Amino acid sequence: MGLLCLGTPLTWDETSKYADHVREHGITQFLHILDRAKDRHGDDFLWGDEIEYMVIAFDDETKNAKLSLRQTKILASLNKSITDLKADASDPMLTPDFHAEYARYMLESTPGSPYTGSIQDLLSVESNMHYRRLFIRRHLNTNQVPVTVTSFPRLGAPGIFTEPHFSPDGAKPSHSLFLPDEVISPHERYITLTTNIRSRKGHQVSVNLPIFNDDETPRPFVDPTIPWQRSLHPVDNGVALKDHIYMGGILFGAGCCCLQLTFQSCNIEEARCMYDALIPMAPIMLALTAASPIWRGYLSDVDCRWSVLSGCFDDRTAEEMGRAPLRENKYVIPKSRYDSVGLYISTDWNNKAAYNDINVPYNQEIYTRLVNQGVDKLLSKHMAYIFIRDPLVILSETIDQDDEASNYHFENLQSTNWQTVRFKPPPLQSPIGWRVELRSMEVQLTDFENAAFAVFIALLSRAILAFNLNFYIPISKVDENMSRAQKRDAVRQGKFFFRKNVLPPGCISPTMTTPSSSGSSSPLGWQDGNPPKEAKLRNGFPRVPPPPMPVDTPVEDEYEEMSMEEIFSGKGATFPGLLGLVEAYLDTLDINPSERLQISKYVDLVRRRANGSLLTTASWMREFVRSHPSYKFDSVVSQEINYDLMVAIDEMYVFLLEELSAFLTVRLQREGRLACSRAFTPRLRAIASEWTA
Ligand code: ADP
Ligand code: MG
Ligand code: MG
Ligand code: MG
Ligand code: MG
Ligand code: MG
Repeated sequence: MGLLCLGTPLTWDETSKYADHVREHGITQFLHILDRAKDRHGDDFLWGDEIEYMVIAFDDETKNAKLSLRQTKILASLNKSITDLKADASDPMLTPDFHAEYARYMLESTPGSPYTGSIQDLLSVESNMHYRRLFIRRHLNTNQVPVTVTSFPRLGAPGIFTEPHFSPDGAKPSHSLFLPDEVISPHERYITLTTNIRSRKGHQVSVNLPIFNDDETPRPFVDPTIPWQRSLHPVDNGVALKDHIYMGGILFGAGCCCLQLTFQSCNIEEARCMYDALIPMAPIMLALTAASPIWRGYLSDVDCRWSVLSGCFDDRTAEEMGRAPLRENKYVIPKSRYDSVGLYISTDWNNKAAYNDINVPYNQEIYTRLVNQGVDKLLSKHMAYIFIRDPLVILSETIDQDDEASNYHFENLQSTNWQTVRFKPPPLQSPIGWRVELRSMEVQLTDFENAAFAVFIALLSRAILAFNLNFYIPISKVDENMSRAQKRDAVRQGKFFFRKNVLPPGCISPTMTTPSSSGSSSPLGWQDGNPPKEAKLRNGFPRVPPPPMPVDTPVEDEYEEMSMEEIFSGKGATFPGLLGLVEAYLDTLDINPSERLQISKYVDLVRRRANGSLLTTASWMREFVRSHPSYKFDSVVSQEINYDLMVAIDEMYVFLLEELSAFLTVRLQREGRLACSRAFTPRLRAIASEWTA
């Protein structure tokens, strides 16, 4: 979750005094970055995933699955192990990175170094994820397991749900009625962020999610479990809506897990194209990965986490939300700082001005300054929009920076604008280039699924570049898709705005294998009409310039509502579907049949999620709850149901472990030991003893 430097955080009053200072120097730092990196060209396609976990502690006697708050100890132990391993492991993939996350029950892992564009690397993603999970597992107590659940079903429900247990009475930084502050990671940055978001806003951040109306759910539903007697902070009063699950406190959002992917581009232009192309993909992938139907012990009528995050990180004041006339604040800001993207930024001619059709307030002074420094208008507006926000955490030791050598103030705002897609400039003093991060996906229960979505998006990103695909639809339609994506069962029941023709003008559908006879350039933009035969995922540039745009089609005619199946499997003569595009891209690579078979397992998962023949994680969880013998069809997800759900999720992992790659087996044999975790059921113990024999 961004910068984690040590230091002394300023109070909110002090922080706001330095807001202009941070913005001014942040932009100076950005200009220095741009100056150094704008002509940077030729970076390879490198990419990586981030996976977030919750550590669950099972109490088999009382049938309780609790959140374990041992993050600090676990991380210390993980990092010691990594340091030891680094001393003798030459393969960086054997030494993944583990990071803290906002809640003390959370961990994040990333691969030890980014994946390259080789097919071998593509096919190692799943075992890499397995390896990281098992690595964590080996550092936990015997009753604990890491699970990749997007939202913990009973977070904030009454009763003991953390180990050790802390009372939410008197929660200070978070002012939450439901959650003890001890759940927040002890790092000062997180505590300060919590206090300052609330202070800036002027009251508690909160969210009301519609309750899932089951057969026996009381109507109207007035939540009897809200601990009003704990009303330390009267602001909670009156904000809990009936027929909703009320959640107050940033942790309800910040305590969710997700799957993020970062892709390096060969230069800034390619990164801007990739950023724009992934913007319309963000809601589509959110719907497809939906995995969070249960909140604070209730089934909700949504399947995704995003609106909770949006609400919990919304530091806008009443004035900024347009609910009071502007006095103290300068702008009415339509979106939370955790929200979908505000504007497209590519200078490609495909990016018509009409697509940026929502109100994006921006800092005029910063905009003018950037434009005067020669930065084009779109990028200037993007930064001036990011910089409309205030810094939330400032450490006293970091106020004065050498703007040529530091990107600290820039990152302060950059990394606290949590949009669905992030445009990441090259960090200073690092070999890393221009990157784009897709941040909307929900984490899946198994690494097979996480790998499938990672591999699919990696391939799609290459297809976008190779075929010069155009995914543009107006941003207002992307926003509409964001809200549709989160509805219950959106994948099967929802329709989404999508572009009718994503291929460059004059191009035949890539699912057709014969090259177009018309026109001088090849159908897919390859100079000699032959795709490059290379078993490697490549950057797209230099691209063959696309033919000039035909006489304008009105923007409203460029897109239509499609089902998820149509978006993925195609519609009509012109749209081959995202899977058709990925398959066409795969056809251009020199992959052997067994590699292709392995990739097709992942592509098939995506296909089957999209056509509804496989349940999303959210639907699976909902059905699990509704078919549990003790469920009363009243939307309540009890401690026992939650326990059984977590056990089922853990058993899924144990089952998949049987299929672990040889890579892992060798690795564990060399270590000479396996942790004895609760999940080492007789079946797993048998596998484990085989390995270590
Ligand atoms: P953040 O939390 O800021 O989004 P992380 O450092 O947690 O970022 O994760 C960054 C991801 O980017 C990791 O998966 C990492 O492997 C990947 N990565 C690292 N270097 C590069 C690079 N040069 N190009 C693309 N991806 C990279
Ligand atoms: Mg994270
Ligand atoms: Mg990260
Ligand atoms: Mg980070
Ligand atoms: Mg690393
Ligand atoms: Mg990230």
